[in-house]
Amino acid sequence: MTRTHPNLKDYSIEGLRGRIARDGLAPYRAEQIAGWLYQRGVEEPERMTDLPVELRSQLRERWETRSLDVSAVDRSADGTVKATLIARDGARIESVLIPEENRTTLCVSTQVGCSLACSFCATGAFGFQRNLATAEIIDQVCRMRELLEAERQITNVVFMGMGEPLLNLDAVIEAVRILLHPKAFGLAPRRVTVSTAGVLPKIRPLLESVPVNLAVSLHATTDDVRDRLVPLNRRFPLRELLATLRALDGITARRPVFFEYTLIDGVNDGPEDARRLARLARSLPSKVNLIPMNTHGDSTLRPPPEATVDRFLRDLASRGTTVTLRRSRGSDIDAACGQLALRSSRRVVDPAVSRAGPAAAASG
Ligand code: SAH
Repeated sequence: MTRTHPNLKDYSIEGLRGRIARDGLAPYRAEQIAGWLYQRGVEEPERMTDLPVELRSQLRERWETRSLDVSAVDRSADGTVKATLIARDGARIESVLIPEENRTTLCVSTQVGCSLACSFCATGAFGFQRNLATAEIIDQVCRMRELLEAERQITNVVFMGMGEPLLNLDAVIEAVRILLHPKAFGLAPRRVTVSTAGVLPKIRPLLESVPVNLAVSLHATTDDVRDRLVPLNRRFPLRELLATLRALDGITARRPVFFEYTLIDGVNDGPEDARRLARLARSLPSKVNLIPMNTHGDSTLRPPPEATVDRFLRDLASRGTTVTLRRSRGSDIDAACGQLALRSSRRVVDPAVSRAGPAAAASG
Protein backbone atom coordinates (compact mmCIF):
# COMPACT_ATOMS: atom_id res chain seq x y z
CA MET A 1 0.00 0.00 0.00
CA THR A 2 1.20 3.44 -0.85
CA ARG A 3 -1.06 5.06 1.71
CA THR A 4 0.96 7.21 4.04
CA HIS A 5 -1.66 8.54 6.44
CA PRO A 6 -4.64 6.87 8.07
CA ASN A 7 -7.93 7.37 6.23
CA LEU A 8 -10.89 8.98 8.01
CA LYS A 9 -13.21 6.55 6.20
CA ASP A 10 -11.48 3.55 7.80
CA TYR A 11 -13.28 4.34 11.04
CA SER A 12 -16.87 4.03 12.15
CA ILE A 13 -18.06 7.13 13.95
CA GLU A 14 -17.57 5.36 17.28
CA GLY A 15 -14.08 4.33 16.21
CA LEU A 16 -13.25 7.83 15.02
CA ARG A 17 -14.40 9.36 18.30
CA GLY A 18 -11.87 7.20 20.15
CA ARG A 19 -9.15 7.78 17.59
CA ILE A 20 -9.36 11.56 17.55
CA ALA A 21 -9.71 11.72 21.34
CA ARG A 22 -6.21 10.23 21.47
CA ASP A 23 -5.07 13.24 19.42
CA GLY A 24 -6.58 15.51 22.07
CA LEU A 25 -9.65 16.42 20.00
CA ALA A 26 -13.24 16.61 21.22
CA PRO A 27 -15.00 13.32 20.31
CA TYR A 28 -18.06 15.12 18.89
CA ARG A 29 -15.88 16.30 16.02
CA ALA A 30 -16.27 12.76 14.67
CA GLU A 31 -19.97 13.35 13.97
CA GLN A 32 -19.21 16.66 12.30
CA ILE A 33 -16.56 15.09 10.10
CA ALA A 34 -18.90 12.22 9.20
CA GLY A 35 -21.60 14.71 8.23
CA TRP A 36 -19.24 16.28 5.71
CA LEU A 37 -17.82 13.04 4.35
CA TYR A 38 -21.00 11.01 4.06
CA GLN A 39 -24.02 13.32 4.08
CA ARG A 40 -22.59 16.18 2.08
CA GLY A 41 -19.98 14.23 0.14
CA VAL A 42 -17.23 16.74 0.93
CA GLU A 43 -13.73 15.23 1.14
CA GLU A 44 -11.50 18.31 1.35
CA PRO A 45 -10.98 19.31 5.02
CA GLU A 46 -10.64 22.96 4.01
CA ARG A 47 -14.29 22.93 2.91
CA MET A 48 -15.53 21.59 6.28
CA THR A 49 -16.42 25.09 7.33
CA ASP A 50 -17.83 24.44 10.79
CA LEU A 51 -14.55 22.93 11.96
CA PRO A 52 -11.91 25.17 13.56
CA VAL A 53 -9.24 26.24 11.11
CA GLU A 54 -6.48 24.41 13.03
CA LEU A 55 -8.47 21.20 12.95
CA ARG A 56 -8.99 21.54 9.23
CA SER A 57 -5.27 21.88 8.59
CA GLN A 58 -4.55 19.04 10.99
CA LEU A 59 -6.93 16.82 9.04
CA ARG A 60 -5.38 17.86 5.75
CA GLU A 61 -1.85 17.15 6.95
CA ARG A 62 -2.38 13.93 8.86
CA TRP A 63 -5.31 12.18 7.24
CA GLU A 64 -6.40 10.78 3.91
CA THR A 65 -10.05 11.12 2.95
CA ARG A 66 -10.18 9.44 -0.45
CA SER A 67 -9.07 5.96 -1.43
CA LEU A 68 -10.69 5.20 -4.80
CA ASP A 69 -10.98 6.95 -8.15
CA VAL A 70 -13.26 6.06 -11.05
CA SER A 71 -11.33 4.56 -13.94
CA ALA A 72 -14.19 3.49 -16.24
CA VAL A 73 -17.98 3.63 -16.28
CA ASP A 74 -20.30 1.34 -18.28
CA ARG A 75 -24.01 2.08 -18.55
CA SER A 76 -26.43 -0.71 -19.43
CA ALA A 77 -29.52 -0.25 -21.60
CA ASP A 78 -31.57 -1.22 -18.50
CA GLY A 79 -30.09 1.60 -16.39
CA THR A 80 -27.56 -0.50 -14.49
CA VAL A 81 -24.26 1.31 -14.03
CA LYS A 82 -20.97 -0.52 -13.51
CA ALA A 83 -17.83 1.34 -12.52
CA THR A 84 -14.28 0.16 -12.41
CA LEU A 85 -12.59 1.81 -9.46
CA ILE A 86 -8.89 2.07 -8.86
CA ALA A 87 -7.21 2.06 -5.47
CA ARG A 88 -4.02 3.83 -4.46
CA ASP A 89 -1.89 0.75 -5.13
CA GLY A 90 -3.38 0.31 -8.60
CA ALA A 91 -5.72 -2.51 -7.56
CA ARG A 92 -8.99 -2.43 -9.48
CA ILE A 93 -12.44 -3.41 -8.33
CA GLU A 94 -15.95 -3.12 -9.70
CA SER A 95 -19.17 -1.79 -8.20
CA VAL A 96 -22.64 -1.95 -9.70
CA LEU A 97 -25.61 0.39 -9.25
CA ILE A 98 -29.03 -1.08 -9.95
CA PRO A 99 -31.76 1.56 -10.19
CA GLU A 100 -35.30 0.23 -9.83
CA GLU A 101 -38.62 1.98 -9.56
CA ASN A 102 -38.72 2.23 -5.79
CA ARG A 103 -35.12 1.79 -4.82
CA THR A 104 -31.54 2.04 -5.96
CA THR A 105 -29.28 -0.80 -4.92
CA LEU A 106 -25.51 -0.60 -4.82
CA CYS A 107 -23.54 -3.84 -5.03
CA VAL A 108 -20.12 -3.41 -3.41
CA SER A 109 -16.94 -5.46 -3.55
CA THR A 110 -15.05 -6.46 -0.40
CA GLN A 111 -11.87 -7.97 -1.84
CA VAL A 112 -9.69 -7.55 -4.90
CA GLY A 113 -10.51 -10.86 -6.55
CA CYS A 114 -11.65 -13.83 -4.47
CA SER A 115 -10.05 -16.95 -3.04
CA LEU A 116 -13.11 -19.22 -3.16
CA ALA A 117 -13.01 -20.19 -6.85
CA CYS A 118 -16.72 -21.03 -7.24
CA SER A 119 -16.94 -22.74 -10.60
CA PHE A 120 -19.69 -20.53 -12.07
CA CYS A 121 -18.32 -17.16 -10.93
CA ALA A 122 -16.02 -14.98 -13.03
CA THR A 123 -14.42 -13.34 -10.00
CA GLY A 124 -13.23 -16.76 -8.82
CA ALA A 125 -11.25 -17.29 -12.00
CA PHE A 126 -9.46 -14.03 -11.32
CA GLY A 127 -7.83 -15.28 -8.09
CA PHE A 128 -7.29 -13.38 -4.86
CA GLN A 129 -5.16 -10.25 -4.53
CA ARG A 130 -6.01 -8.62 -1.23
CA ASN A 131 -8.70 -7.47 1.16
CA LEU A 132 -10.21 -4.04 0.77
CA ALA A 133 -9.90 -1.55 3.62
CA THR A 134 -13.07 -0.12 5.16
CA ALA A 135 -12.34 3.19 3.42
CA GLU A 136 -12.24 1.37 0.08
CA ILE A 137 -15.58 -0.31 0.72
CA ILE A 138 -17.14 3.00 1.77
CA ASP A 139 -15.57 4.94 -1.10
CA GLN A 140 -17.50 2.69 -3.49
CA VAL A 141 -20.65 4.23 -2.01
CA CYS A 142 -19.17 7.73 -2.27
CA ARG A 143 -17.97 7.33 -5.90
CA MET A 144 -21.08 5.51 -7.14
CA ARG A 145 -23.37 8.07 -5.57
CA GLU A 146 -21.69 10.71 -7.71
CA LEU A 147 -22.75 8.77 -10.82
CA LEU A 148 -26.47 8.85 -9.99
CA GLU A 149 -29.01 11.19 -11.53
CA ALA A 150 -29.63 14.16 -9.27
CA GLU A 151 -32.94 13.04 -7.77
CA ARG A 152 -31.82 9.49 -7.00
CA GLN A 153 -30.04 8.22 -3.94
CA ILE A 154 -28.68 4.87 -2.88
CA THR A 155 -31.35 3.17 -0.77
CA ASN A 156 -29.92 -0.36 -0.45
CA VAL A 157 -26.42 -1.79 -0.23
CA VAL A 158 -25.64 -5.43 -0.94
CA PHE A 159 -22.22 -6.96 -0.24
CA MET A 160 -22.40 -9.13 -3.35
CA GLY A 161 -19.64 -7.76 -5.54
CA MET A 162 -16.16 -9.20 -5.86
CA GLY A 163 -14.83 -11.18 -2.92
CA GLU A 164 -16.09 -13.01 0.14
CA PRO A 165 -17.21 -10.47 2.78
CA LEU A 166 -16.77 -12.84 5.70
CA LEU A 167 -13.11 -13.37 4.85
CA ASN A 168 -12.67 -9.62 5.40
CA LEU A 169 -14.96 -9.40 8.39
CA ASP A 170 -13.48 -6.57 10.45
CA ALA A 171 -13.40 -4.16 7.51
CA VAL A 172 -16.94 -5.18 6.51
CA ILE A 173 -18.35 -4.66 10.00
CA GLU A 174 -16.79 -1.21 10.26
CA ALA A 175 -18.16 -0.32 6.79
CA VAL A 176 -21.65 -1.48 7.77
CA ARG A 177 -21.49 0.72 10.87
CA ILE A 178 -20.83 3.71 8.62
CA LEU A 179 -23.71 2.74 6.34
CA LEU A 180 -26.13 2.47 9.27
CA HIS A 181 -25.08 5.41 11.44
CA PRO A 182 -27.66 8.24 11.31
CA LYS A 183 -24.89 10.85 11.13
CA ALA A 184 -23.29 9.00 8.21
CA PHE A 185 -25.36 7.24 5.50
CA GLY A 186 -28.24 6.44 7.84
CA LEU A 187 -29.51 3.35 6.00
CA ALA A 188 -32.05 1.16 7.76
CA PRO A 189 -30.55 -2.22 8.73
CA ARG A 190 -33.07 -4.10 6.58
CA ARG A 191 -31.63 -2.30 3.56
CA VAL A 192 -28.14 -3.72 4.00
CA THR A 193 -27.40 -7.34 3.02
CA VAL A 194 -24.16 -9.25 3.45
CA SER A 195 -23.78 -12.34 1.27
CA THR A 196 -21.54 -15.30 2.07
CA ALA A 197 -20.65 -18.52 0.32
CA GLY A 198 -20.73 -20.07 3.81
CA VAL A 199 -17.76 -19.09 5.97
CA LEU A 200 -19.52 -20.59 8.98
CA PRO A 201 -17.34 -19.44 11.91
CA LYS A 202 -17.81 -15.81 10.86
CA ILE A 203 -21.59 -15.73 10.50
CA ARG A 204 -22.46 -15.31 14.15
CA PRO A 205 -19.71 -12.71 14.80
CA LEU A 206 -21.08 -10.68 11.87
CA LEU A 207 -24.68 -10.74 13.05
CA GLU A 208 -23.76 -10.13 16.67
CA SER A 209 -21.88 -6.99 15.58
CA VAL A 210 -24.28 -5.46 13.05
CA PRO A 211 -28.01 -6.05 12.41
CA VAL A 212 -27.80 -6.72 8.66
CA ASN A 213 -29.66 -9.20 6.46
CA LEU A 214 -27.76 -12.38 5.78
CA ALA A 215 -27.70 -13.93 2.33
CA VAL A 216 -26.21 -17.38 1.83
CA SER A 217 -25.07 -18.55 -1.59
CA LEU A 218 -26.54 -22.04 -1.52
CA HIS A 219 -26.75 -23.14 -5.18
CA ALA A 220 -27.14 -26.85 -4.39
CA THR A 221 -29.01 -29.18 -2.06
CA THR A 222 -26.52 -32.07 -1.94
CA ASP A 223 -22.88 -31.98 -0.87
CA ASP A 224 -21.94 -33.78 -4.03
CA VAL A 225 -23.17 -30.95 -6.27
CA ARG A 226 -22.27 -28.15 -3.88
CA ASP A 227 -18.69 -29.43 -3.52
CA ARG A 228 -18.29 -28.92 -7.24
CA LEU A 229 -19.95 -25.50 -7.44
CA VAL A 230 -18.68 -23.96 -4.20
CA PRO A 231 -15.38 -25.62 -3.20
CA LEU A 232 -15.72 -24.07 0.28
CA ASN A 233 -18.44 -26.68 0.86
CA ARG A 234 -15.72 -29.31 1.31
CA ARG A 235 -14.67 -27.47 4.46
CA PHE A 236 -18.13 -26.42 5.59
CA PRO A 237 -20.67 -28.94 4.26
CA LEU A 238 -24.42 -28.40 4.02
CA ARG A 239 -25.32 -30.10 7.28
CA GLU A 240 -23.01 -27.76 9.22
CA LEU A 241 -24.19 -24.75 7.23
CA LEU A 242 -27.80 -25.45 8.15
CA ALA A 243 -26.96 -26.17 11.79
CA THR A 244 -25.14 -22.82 11.98
CA LEU A 245 -28.08 -20.98 10.44
CA ARG A 246 -30.64 -22.65 12.70
CA ALA A 247 -28.57 -21.81 15.76
CA LEU A 248 -28.91 -18.11 14.85
CA ASP A 249 -32.52 -18.25 15.89
CA GLY A 250 -32.50 -15.50 18.50
CA ILE A 251 -30.34 -13.16 16.45
CA THR A 252 -32.21 -13.41 13.19
CA ALA A 253 -35.66 -13.67 14.76
CA ARG A 254 -36.85 -10.66 12.82
CA ARG A 255 -35.13 -11.49 9.58
CA PRO A 256 -35.22 -14.54 7.36
CA VAL A 257 -32.04 -15.85 5.76
CA PHE A 258 -31.93 -15.20 2.01
CA PHE A 259 -30.80 -18.28 0.09
CA GLU A 260 -29.31 -17.42 -3.27
CA TYR A 261 -29.64 -20.19 -5.79
CA THR A 262 -27.99 -19.80 -9.18
CA LEU A 263 -29.82 -22.05 -11.64
CA ILE A 264 -27.42 -23.90 -13.93
CA ASP A 265 -28.59 -25.99 -16.86
CA GLY A 266 -28.50 -29.71 -16.07
CA VAL A 267 -26.58 -29.19 -12.81
CA ASN A 268 -29.03 -28.08 -10.10
CA ASP A 269 -32.30 -27.40 -11.93
CA GLY A 270 -34.19 -30.71 -11.73
CA PRO A 271 -37.50 -31.50 -9.96
CA GLU A 272 -35.59 -33.35 -7.21
CA ASP A 273 -33.47 -30.24 -6.62
CA ALA A 274 -36.62 -28.14 -6.28
CA ARG A 275 -38.13 -30.64 -3.86
CA ARG A 276 -34.99 -30.74 -1.67
CA LEU A 277 -34.61 -26.97 -1.83
CA ALA A 278 -38.21 -26.46 -0.69
CA ARG A 279 -37.68 -28.81 2.24
CA LEU A 280 -34.42 -27.14 3.19
CA ALA A 281 -35.91 -23.63 2.95
CA ARG A 282 -38.87 -24.65 5.09
CA SER A 283 -36.60 -25.85 7.87
CA LEU A 284 -35.76 -22.31 8.98
CA PRO A 285 -37.09 -18.77 8.43
CA SER A 286 -35.86 -18.09 4.92
CA LYS A 287 -36.52 -16.80 1.44
CA VAL A 288 -35.13 -18.17 -1.79
CA ASN A 289 -33.74 -15.98 -4.53
CA LEU A 290 -33.36 -17.75 -7.87
CA ILE A 291 -30.78 -16.36 -10.28
CA PRO A 292 -30.50 -17.94 -13.73
CA MET A 293 -26.76 -18.36 -14.29
CA ASN A 294 -25.13 -15.43 -16.04
CA THR A 295 -22.62 -16.65 -18.58
CA HIS A 296 -19.10 -15.33 -18.81
CA GLY A 297 -15.70 -15.99 -20.31
CA ASP A 298 -14.72 -19.59 -20.96
CA SER A 299 -17.27 -21.13 -18.63
CA THR A 300 -19.24 -23.97 -20.21
CA LEU A 301 -22.01 -23.58 -17.63
CA ARG A 302 -25.27 -22.17 -18.95
CA PRO A 303 -28.63 -21.00 -17.59
CA PRO A 304 -31.49 -23.49 -18.01
CA PRO A 305 -34.10 -22.88 -20.72
CA GLU A 306 -36.81 -20.45 -19.65
CA ALA A 307 -39.40 -23.23 -19.27
CA THR A 308 -37.15 -25.04 -16.79
CA VAL A 309 -36.67 -21.86 -14.77
CA ASP A 310 -40.45 -21.33 -14.69
CA ARG A 311 -41.10 -24.90 -13.63
CA PHE A 312 -38.48 -24.70 -10.86
CA LEU A 313 -40.03 -21.48 -9.61
CA ARG A 314 -43.54 -22.97 -9.64
CA ASP A 315 -42.35 -26.16 -7.92
CA LEU A 316 -40.95 -24.13 -5.06
CA ALA A 317 -43.92 -21.81 -4.78
CA SER A 318 -46.39 -24.71 -4.77
CA ARG A 319 -44.50 -26.17 -1.81
CA GLY A 320 -44.96 -22.99 0.18
CA THR A 321 -41.46 -21.57 -0.30
CA THR A 322 -41.14 -17.80 -0.41
CA VAL A 323 -39.28 -17.45 -3.67
CA THR A 324 -38.34 -14.68 -6.07
CA LEU A 325 -36.71 -14.82 -9.46
CA ARG A 326 -33.97 -12.25 -9.85
CA ARG A 327 -34.13 -10.65 -13.22
CA SER A 328 -30.67 -10.35 -14.66
CA ARG A 329 -29.60 -6.74 -14.73
CA GLY A 330 -26.72 -5.21 -16.60
CA SER A 331 -25.62 -8.36 -18.39
CA ASP A 332 -24.92 -6.38 -21.57
CA ILE A 333 -22.07 -4.66 -19.73
CA ASP A 334 -20.92 -7.73 -17.75
CA ALA A 335 -22.34 -6.23 -14.57
CA ALA A 336 -24.69 -9.06 -13.59
CA CYS A 337 -24.10 -11.43 -10.66
CA GLY A 338 -20.92 -13.39 -11.14
CA GLN A 339 -19.69 -11.36 -14.10
CA LEU A 340 -17.44 -8.97 -12.24
CA ALA A 341 -13.94 -9.81 -13.32
CA LEU A 342 -12.18 -6.90 -15.00
CA ARG A 343 -11.68 -8.38 -18.40
CA SER A 344 -8.40 -7.35 -19.96
CA SER A 345 -10.20 -6.33 -23.15
CA ARG A 346 -12.01 -3.70 -21.13
CA ARG A 347 -8.88 -2.24 -19.66
CA VAL A 348 -8.73 1.46 -20.02
CA VAL A 349 -5.21 2.67 -19.58
CA ASP A 350 -5.07 5.84 -17.62
CA PRO A 351 -2.09 7.57 -16.03
CA ALA A 352 -2.95 6.30 -12.55
CA VAL A 353 -2.84 2.74 -13.85
CA SER A 354 0.43 2.92 -15.71
CA ARG A 355 2.04 4.52 -12.68
CA ALA A 356 0.81 1.69 -10.51
CA GLY A 357 2.63 -0.99 -12.47
CA PRO A 358 1.96 -4.71 -12.63
CA ALA A 359 -0.57 -4.86 -9.80
CA ALA A 360 -3.02 -3.19 -12.15
CA ALA A 361 -2.80 -5.89 -14.79
CA ALA A 362 -5.98 -7.75 -14.04
CA SER A 363 -6.96 -10.96 -15.73
CA GLY A 364 -10.38 -12.53 -15.75
N1 SAH B 1 -18.75 -14.31 -1.95
C1 SAH B 1 -20.08 -13.90 -1.63
C2 SAH B 1 -20.53 -12.62 -2.32
C3 SAH B 1 -20.24 -12.47 -3.81
S1 SAH B 1 -21.19 -13.38 -4.98
C4 SAH B 1 -21.04 -15.01 -1.90
O1 SAH B 1 -20.64 -16.02 -2.45
O2 SAH B 1 -22.21 -14.92 -1.51
C5 SAH B 1 -22.77 -12.67 -5.06
C6 SAH B 1 -23.80 -13.67 -5.62
O3 SAH B 1 -23.70 -13.84 -7.04
C7 SAH B 1 -23.63 -15.04 -5.02
O4 SAH B 1 -24.84 -15.60 -4.65
C8 SAH B 1 -23.00 -15.78 -6.16
O5 SAH B 1 -23.13 -17.15 -6.00
C9 SAH B 1 -23.76 -15.22 -7.33
N2 SAH B 1 -23.13 -15.55 -8.60
C10 SAH B 1 -21.82 -15.73 -8.83
N3 SAH B 1 -21.60 -16.05 -10.12
C11 SAH B 1 -22.79 -16.05 -10.73
C12 SAH B 1 -23.21 -16.27 -12.08
N4 SAH B 1 -22.33 -16.57 -13.04
N5 SAH B 1 -24.52 -16.18 -12.35
C13 SAH B 1 -25.40 -15.86 -11.39
N6 SAH B 1 -25.07 -15.63 -10.11
C14 SAH B 1 -23.78 -15.74 -9.78
